[in-house]
Amino acid sequence: MIPVNSLVISGPCSAETREQVLETALGLSNVGIDYFRAGIWKPRTRPGEFEGIGDVGISWMCEVRETYGLKIATEVAKAEHVEFALKNNFDMIWVGARSTVNPFTVQEIAECLQGTNIKVMVKNPVNPDLKLWVGGIERLYKAGVKKVIAIHRGFSTYDKQRYRNLPNWQIPIALRAEFPGLEIICDPSHISGIANNVFEVSQKAIDLKFDGLMIEVHPNPAAAKTDAKQQITPKKYLELIL
Ligand code: PEP
Ligand code: MN
Repeated sequence: MIPVNSLVISGPCSAETREQVLETALGLSNVGIDYFRAGIWKPRTRPGEFEGIGDVGISWMCEVRETYGLKIATEVAKAEHVEFALKNNFDMIWVGARSTVNPFTVQEIAECLQGTNIKVMVKNPVNPDLKLWVGGIERLYKAGVKKVIAIHRGFSTYDKQRYRNLPNWQIPIALRAEFPGLEIICDPSHISGIANNVFEVSQKAIDLKFDGLMIEVHPNPAAAKTDAKQQITPKKYLELIL
């Protein structure tokens, strides 16, 4: 279902244990993904929730790269995270939706990236503000980041009947008009909020000619410490891409 030249990123919402990270990577090792993702530092809405495994998760990601030859990506939200990712030669990092809303945060990340070659993805801000998304991307370009990719993950809404985050497809389409040639991928997991809708949202993104997908995959979604409802198993993931 995913067109051949699409950029495909998948992996768990969060790195939880070494076993969970390696098991997910094994499940995804032969299905042609471009990057393996996992959140190491998690921006949680409320304190007391699982805030990510922290620095030790970096070594599990490096193990994934060594064992399965997969490229690795994680979310960064401050200078210290960027430094960790750079020191460990991560292939790509992304700025999360809660960071894109804050120009100070994006600027801090951008300054840390000066003179480096790492690829950087920028999720849309949680609120439906095209300018903030544009501004985040501009800050990275201004810092000299050569490869920037945008991720559409939907926009916060109080009414979550259909989507966890409203797609507002016209916003990523408007972003494309601002930056012709910028790759824009879709994150159907955070838009859907539930595993059963990930296929439908992925199809819509493909129909709208998005350049790729970022999909959350977990070997045992029900037991996931973050985003349990929206993660799919490696087996389901296979059905989605075929
Ligand atoms: C994530 O990718 O797991 C994440 C925290 O995403 P977002 O920034 O879109 O909420
Ligand atoms: Mn998530």
